[in-house]
Order: sequence, then C-alpha cells, then structure tokens
Amino acid sequence: MTDTVAPIDSLPPLDVEAATQAYRTILQITGSVEPRIAEAIRSELTDQRNSLKLIASENYASIPTLLTMGNWLSDKYAEGTIGHRFYAGCQNVDTVESVAAEHARALFGAEYAYAQPHSGIDANLTAFWAILAHRVEQPALAELGKKNVNELDEDAWETLRKTFGEQRMLGMSLDAGGHLTHGFRPNISGKMFHQRSYGTDPETQLLDYDKVAAMAKEFKPLVLIAGYSAYPRRVNFAKMREIADSVGATFMVDMAHFAGLVAGKVFTGDEDPVPHAHVVTTTTHKSLRGPRGGLVLATEEYAPSVDRGCPLVLGGPLSNMMAAKAVALAEARTADFRTYAQQVADNAKSFAESLSRRGAKLVTGGTDNHLVLLDVSGFGLTGRQGESALLDAGVVTNRNAVPNDPNGAWYTSGVRLGTPALTSRGFGPDDFDAVADMIVDVLSNTTPVTASTGKPGKAKYTLAEGVAEKTKARSAELLEANPLYPGLEL
Ligand SMILES: *Cc1c(COP(=O)(O)O)cnc(C)c1O
Repeated sequence: MTDTVAPIDSLPPLDVEAATQAYRTILQITGSVEPRIAEAIRSELTDQRNSLKLIASENYASIPTLLTMGNWLSDKYAEGTIGHRFYAGCQNVDTVESVAAEHARALFGAEYAYAQPHSGIDANLTAFWAILAHRVEQPALAELGKKNVNELDEDAWETLRKTFGEQRMLGMSLDAGGHLTHGFRPNISGKMFHQRSYGTDPETQLLDYDKVAAMAKEFKPLVLIAGYSAYPRRVNFAKMREIADSVGATFMVDMAHFAGLVAGKVFTGDEDPVPHAHVVTTTTHKSLRGPRGGLVLATEEYAPSVDRGCPLVLGGPLSNMMAAKAVALAEARTADFRTYAQQVADNAKSFAESLSRRGAKLVTGGTDNHLVLLDVSGFGLTGRQGESALLDAGVVTNRNAVPNDPNGAWYTSGVRLGTPALTSRGFGPDDFDAVADMIVDVLSNTTPVTASTGKPGKAKYTLAEGVAEKTKARSAELLEANPLYPGLEL
C-alpha cells in the first residue's frame, strides 16, 4: 500500500492579501454573534506574535492549514472507514480521509495510515486497543472458532475481557522523558496494562539498550513502547525492534514530539521509527506543524485492527480536521519542509552549545533532536522557579522533571526548551544564541525565596530589578525581525 510518490517540489507562495481578507471577514462574522470570541481570537494572534515561544510541543500551523479547519465538513457524521461508513452521503469525507492517508503514507513510507484520531492520546488509545485486538482477541477467537466477539457467549466473553487486563507494557519512565500515556497509572494506559518503565543511565542520562533488553527479557511485555516528550536525544529504533522481537513483543513508537524530524528526513535509517515499528502513533500539531490531531501508521499486519479505531475507541471522525491534516501533510512533503526540519535540529544543537558555553547544565550534555532539557539546579532553582522567572521576562517555556528528579514532577528541576516554533518564524543559530544569553541572564539573576519553614523555597523567587524589562526588549527585537504570519493584518 506504500505510495512511492515523489516529494512535492514546492507549493505556491501564500497570497497574504487574500488571507487577510479571509480572516477579516471571518472575524467580522464571528463578532456579529459573539464579539468576545472574535476579540479573543484577535488577541491570541497578538499574544503569539509577541511571545518568545520555546514550548517544545508547540508550533505555528500554516494559514492554509488553519483556514481549512473552519467549514461544513465539520457537520458530517462519518463513523466507519473509507468507503464503509455507518452513515449515508460520506463521499466527500471519503475523499478527505483518503487524501490525508495517502499523504501520510507517502510522507512516512508507511504501509498504512489512519487519520481519524482527534489527538495524540486518541491515537495511542487506538493503537493500544488495535494491538490488543490483534494479539489477544483474534487468537482467542480463532481458538474458539469464532469470527467476531458478538458470537461469544457470556462466559467466553468474560474470560476474554479478563485477559485484556493481564497484558503488560514496557515504556520509558516519565522522569527520563516518557509520556503519561505510556502506561502511567493516572492515565487509562496504566489502568489497562501492567506497566514497567525503563529509565536512562544514571551517569550519561542516555538510553541504556542493554538494560531495556534485560528488563524486556524478565518482564516479557506484550507491547514495547518507545517515544518521549522530554528526552533530548535520538533513539535507535532498529535496536529497540530487536529487543521487542527477542521477547515476542509488539513494537510501538509514539513519535508525537519528533514526527516533523521524521517527515523532514532528519531522522533516517535506524532513527526512523516507521520501518522498524509495527505501529507508530503521532500528533500532527507539534514538530509536524499541522492542525491539532493524531495519526496512526501501521504495517499491513496491524492495519485491519487499526482501521477499526471506530468503533474500537472512536466515534465520528472530525472531517474538517482530517482535511486540515491532509493540507499540512502535503506541505510536509515539500523540499521546504525538509529544510525547516533540518533547521529545527541545527538550531537545537547550536542553542544547546550556546547555553553550555554560558555555564548552563543540560540533561545528557546536549541534544540531537528538537529539544533541550535545562537542569536549573545549577542556578540554585527549581524548575517551577525557573519557568516563572523566565515567563516574567517574556520567555515562554515549561518546567519538566529531569532523570531521578529530587523535586518530583510538580516543582521539578528542569526547564524544557524546544526550537520548532521559533524556527517556523525564521529564527536561526544567531537568534538562538541571543535567546540562550537572555535565559542564562534571567536565571542567574533569579534568587529563591526561603520558605516560612526556613527551608529553601520551591516556588517563590525574586528576579533582580530591570532584568525582565531588558529581556523583553531584546526579545521584542528578535520577534520583530522574524515576524509570525508576515503581512497578515487584522
Ligand atoms: C503530546 C504527546 C501526546 C499527546 O498528544 P495530545 O494531542 O495532547 O493528546 C502523546 N504522546 C507523546 C509522546 C506526546 O508528546
């Protein structure tokens, strides 16, 4: 099923005049019903334009992608699969979903793509239950000589239901950079699966494949999952697949964060999850720079189970969002997107060097993807203090645990910094060098306030006078030189 269509060379430049007209009209019409909403939409553009966004999971979708979301495709129910819907009149939704899947297969070289999940978490839920259907339900049905769960009597169904809850998952620990949906108890994945997690080497803070292999051998998971939200390094997916194969596990990769680097061919060979994993999930709105949404890729073997995402865990797909995914995926197939993805990684590398040169301590000592995890304990701060002080100075980041974090998941000791969003605005290494200077300046001028208990406080801090103002002025210059949606005037 893999489409071997060549990358799209280029797309015509955006007609900014037309986009301006379109948004003026939209906001006028929205405002005639509820002016506060039109105003909030306007303010959000101003805020996004004026903020130095280093949140590693955020980006700026293109105007064509954004404009594609708002239309009557939203009104159509289309439960089911392409060409096989539980509602009449889905011919246009069929087109939309087929085109989105076609672009996804061609972009990632996947055998099969499923564009219905509404978000990353939905994509993971679809994948987990598809794996359970393929690995647990189908063999059980075959043994009983049945085709469908509806054919099972109450006793057989009860037995099968219990079996789902006995399955095991091995994933990356949260403080090493893993995601909540990879088997953690507060998330449904941790209630579905018995979970154990692999961390990183205490010395190097890098993934220790031998340790993962040893844990897999002992724990024998049904699912080995790789992927992360805060690990600043590439993963060797060929090695992970070998580990999965050695214990008969299904190998799943959640590339929600770094899908843009896979799409842009920055991660190739062993670092490209698609040829190695049975199932790959992603968001479409992070480094991939599309609309908010999810996507599941799978091998031919797993495709029929994933294709049953509805009714497995999904209801009606958001057809307008699938349309926007198709547009963004087409954009991601261009040479321009490859240049962008490479720039994201190059910027991260030089950003990390700029921070290190100024004495900042980085988890794993640097990065080779799109994010940097700054350990702010070197500044005598908690992640929460660092995050807040940076925000006071107009630098938008988020706090994040570091491996074996002494401050736990709430206060943390880290601040996560990503390059995808600012790279979309045109930031280059020199701009990131200036940002590194501002960050180190703010953090060096932040002092924790002692708590009433006399212990070092974890939340309160003071930022030296004038630093916030100075930083905001520097950031305004950088942002003005690299405008967001240039020429779009509301
Ligand atoms: C962001 C993220 C998700 C969840 O995506 P949502 O669209 O917010 O549901 C899942 N997995 C990983 C690894 C992520 O980084």
